[in-house]
Amino acid sequence: MNVQEARFRSSPVEKTSEQFILDRSSFPQRTAAVAAAAATEAEAVDRDARFPQAAIDAARQQKLLGAQIPQQFGGDGATIFDITDMCYTLGRACASTAMIFAMHQTKVACLVRHGAGSGWHETLMRRVASEQMLLASSTTEGQNGGNIRFSAAAVEHAGTEISLVRNATVISYGAQADGIVTIARRANDAAGSDQVLLAITKDNYTLEPSLEWETLGMRGTCSAGFELKFKGTAEQIFPEAYDKIHAQTMTPVAHLCWSSAWAGIAAAAVDRAQAFIRKAARGAGGQMPPGAAHFTAAKMALTKLRAVITANLDTYAAHEHDERALSSLDFQSSINLLKVEASELAVETVMSAMRACGLSGYRNDGDFSVGRHLRDVLSAPIMINNDRILTNIATASLMSAVPASLRD
Ligand SMILES: Cc1cc2nc3c(=O)[nH]c(=O)nc-3n(C[C@H](O)[C@H](O)[C@H](O)COP(=O)(O)OP(=O)(O)OC[C@H]3O[C@@H](n4cnc5c(N)ncnc54)[C@H](O)[C@@H]3O)c2cc1C
Repeated sequence: MNVQEARFRSSPVEKTSEQFILDRSSFPQRTAAVAAAAATEAEAVDRDARFPQAAIDAARQQKLLGAQIPQQFGGDGATIFDITDMCYTLGRACASTAMIFAMHQTKVACLVRHGAGSGWHETLMRRVASEQMLLASSTTEGQNGGNIRFSAAAVEHAGTEISLVRNATVISYGAQADGIVTIARRANDAAGSDQVLLAITKDNYTLEPSLEWETLGMRGTCSAGFELKFKGTAEQIFPEAYDKIHAQTMTPVAHLCWSSAWAGIAAAAVDRAQAFIRKAARGAGGQMPPGAAHFTAAKMALTKLRAVITANLDTYAAHEHDERALSSLDFQSSINLLKVEASELAVETVMSAMRACGLSGYRNDGDFSVGRHLRDVLSAPIMINNDRILTNIATASLMSAVPASLRD
């Protein structure tokens, strides 16, 4: 029995009329159904830069958009292990679907971990589970790039009513989402780093397209710019300050889910390289083709990638309700470096797979082409730029001790 099976077996199976929904052991089959829908349209989604509608419809049908919502609010109570496995499986089928799913689940995690006890957020949790609402993310603003710990737009307060106008440079699937989780400056007189997180739904905001572009990869995420105008009530602001939510949930869950989606893309490229090398070896009477060493390198990089993700997953799961542990310098460094390491390893894996396949990988129209995977995975190092993360982390790295043993 592997770790995954053990986890499913140890999870309680609810005895309710909605057995299918609440039985967590059904996750692999339900995810496979979504992945099948995603794989069918992956090429068209990439070619036409269109939203993966069939895949997201399938995710709704399989009730996966609300999987992470606790059972008391109508979801399945999926764990971070369940969700990252889903991201990986979807990544093997269609990178854009996996990234949309990963971003949505990151927003849901904020709701689950920081919305409990707040009437408005609990109602939204119930709606995500029952209506299978898709949540988008708005952090990037103006020319501020990936500096998400600074906001320009401020929440305007008028009694219990609030409003926000935000120059949102990028909101992936903004046009298709049912709600957005966005950061903002707490108030007009607050500093840029004094931020709050808001959960807003389609009925209380408008999105005016401001920026369209042709992207290299992740084309199905439909990542465009919008002017976001919101009017709602103060209870939509999360009760906890954003700096806490950012450190404890937004960053860890985003980095774990994104990395799993990238690992899925890398695995799909390795699949193709393996099929190519096998075919070439068969055609040469068992003689290995010259690209075989690149295939081994691709597998090696994928192994490292999975190891770095699972190590961080275990650490996060062990401390997910321990505020002190999550805020520690070591955990924050590790979870930030996960994003850097995983994105670089994912690119390395896909590059090696491409070189293993040679021309067959380079061409866009064959069974072994890895062009789409390479274009998609190249988004990884720039999605919150690795350079920015490495610069920000330099002081913390200097302060933390060099480990004295292998496992401390
Ligand atoms: C596929 C995809 C989907 C996305 N979806 C969303 C979304 O739904 N919502 C959202 O809000 N945002 C989204 N983003 C944007 C993302 O969150 C970041 O804002 C964006 O990737 C930052 O891009 P950047 O590299 O241009 O910006 P920056 O981080 O500003 O970097 C710009 C340049 O400056 C360099 N640089 C920056 N800081 C430093 C530093 N401290 N030291 C050294 N060099 C530095 C970088 O190397 C880079 O060359 C998405 C991005 C991608 C790729």
